[in-house]
Amino acid sequence: MATSTSRFVFSEWPPTLSEAQLEALTLYATTYALSHGLLYLPPVKPQPLIPNSAIHAPLSVFPSPFPLRLFLLARRLQSTYNILYARIATDVEFLDQVMGAVEGVGKVDDFVGQLWTGWKTLRDEGLVQPLQLGLFRSDYLLHAGLDGEPLSLKQVEFNTISSSFGTLSERIAALHRYLYATTSYYNVYPDMKSDDFPSNNTTAGLVEGLAAAHAAYNVKEAKILFVVQAGERNVFDQRLLEYELLEKHSIHVVRQTFDQLADSASVDSTTHALFISGDTEISTVYFRAGYTPTDYPTAAQYSTRFLLERSKAIKCPSIALQLAGGKKVQQVLSQPGVLERFLRDKVPAVQLDELRESWMGMWGLDEESAVQKARDMADRLVLKPQREGGGNNVYKEAIPAFLDSLPPLERQAWIAMELIVPPEGTGNYLVRAGSEGAQSAVKVDVVSELGIFGWALFGGPDQGVKEKEAGWLVRTKGKDSNEGGVATGFSVLDSLLLV
Ligand code: ADP
Ligand code: MG
Ligand code: MG
Repeated sequence: MATSTSRFVFSEWPPTLSEAQLEALTLYATTYALSHGLLYLPPVKPQPLIPNSAIHAPLSVFPSPFPLRLFLLARRLQSTYNILYARIATDVEFLDQVMGAVEGVGKVDDFVGQLWTGWKTLRDEGLVQPLQLGLFRSDYLLHAGLDGEPLSLKQVEFNTISSSFGTLSERIAALHRYLYATTSYYNVYPDMKSDDFPSNNTTAGLVEGLAAAHAAYNVKEAKILFVVQAGERNVFDQRLLEYELLEKHSIHVVRQTFDQLADSASVDSTTHALFISGDTEISTVYFRAGYTPTDYPTAAQYSTRFLLERSKAIKCPSIALQLAGGKKVQQVLSQPGVLERFLRDKVPAVQLDELRESWMGMWGLDEESAVQKARDMADRLVLKPQREGGGNNVYKEAIPAFLDSLPPLERQAWIAMELIVPPEGTGNYLVRAGSEGAQSAVKVDVVSELGIFGWALFGGPDQGVKEKEAGWLVRTKGKDSNEGGVATGFSVLDSLLLV
């Protein structure tokens, strides 16, 4: 049945465009993107050291409809999430239990185990920087539910490391506003008003978080270190943060990979200050790498990560905060009483209920009965390991065979989550930079994922959490792909039309 709000029918989106209108909008969109830094490096391997060309990021021609009430709800929840994850990251006992290599997921997941074991060693030595910075992104899908229930907001996951597309999402929102301003979308949807395009100030918001950490470190000439992946194509998304840091806050940035840092980074044995190339002091380490095992091909990259962790620079995120972002933590939070452990004193019970209502059913696979439940409900489930970056999950009909092949000892590293069911029949025109410049918009049925950014600076002796919401992101994927992931090629950048 068709999903609708009082004034909007999702299956009627997007409005119909003539071929000439679509071609004109595509030209406006791609040239705007190329002019405004909505860019990617081209897919060539190896990436040249000094790039001389770029392509526009994959994008949608229309913004995607989203109920105003659920957009406001998602933004309202962010502050609670910022505090919640700050508290999880400072609850060592909880993290040891859930993610540790003695009792938790780290026992059976080598990557989690390596990170936790390194962190444990450093803890035993004594960590010198209590402050931690999180730049978060909480991701949601619209859930249509069954039998004409009203649409609801359901959380996909909460990211605590390398949450990307902040600055590009600000630009695609501006792009859609520009298309409306310049063409009125040819009046194919007369109900559209400029107020329906919400503003999006992710760049200033995220940089405010980085600048707050830098200020707390309190060494004027120090710089911020961006730890990046070699061959990264999403560099403009990162550079735009650098430019804002310099222009608005006079903060300089150094970009290095783990392999470069192996040679360049050192920690002063007396002050524990982190230096690059001997003389550049680092206030804050911002990770846009280090979230996936492939970033650690040898023990050397782990050693570098632990060297940074040992220093008194503020880490975004610390290993503890990275572990707090595990899918296992998300599942454990949904068990009775766990949310209260972190937020009882801070947040009224109604707000906790609002948070809980945004979760799908989740359970661990430790016990035989839980595995059986996953087999029985496979059609309505996704299984997730403790990984980031897309392409790691197992869906629906693939679940039983996957469970057959999974050694029982490894089950603890996975969670089962009920599938969110987005509104049927919503479409969009998606544009991808083609080879040889050939490109046209394709109309497909889509699913749109909303991400809300936030930051938190916490861990000091006063137990305080300084935090803010920091804008939003929409990624839209073809309906037939289980996974999103702009970087992995399954989806496009998009923005919102509030309905
Ligand atoms: P990652 O950390 O790799 O991004 P996610 O949990 O975000 O992992 O899963 C990747 C993608 O899989 C999501 O962007 C979404 O498209 C899809 N997905 C994940 N969980 C669900 C769910 N419960 N219902 C429907 N789709 C989901
Ligand atoms: Mg995700
Ligand atoms: Mg993730």
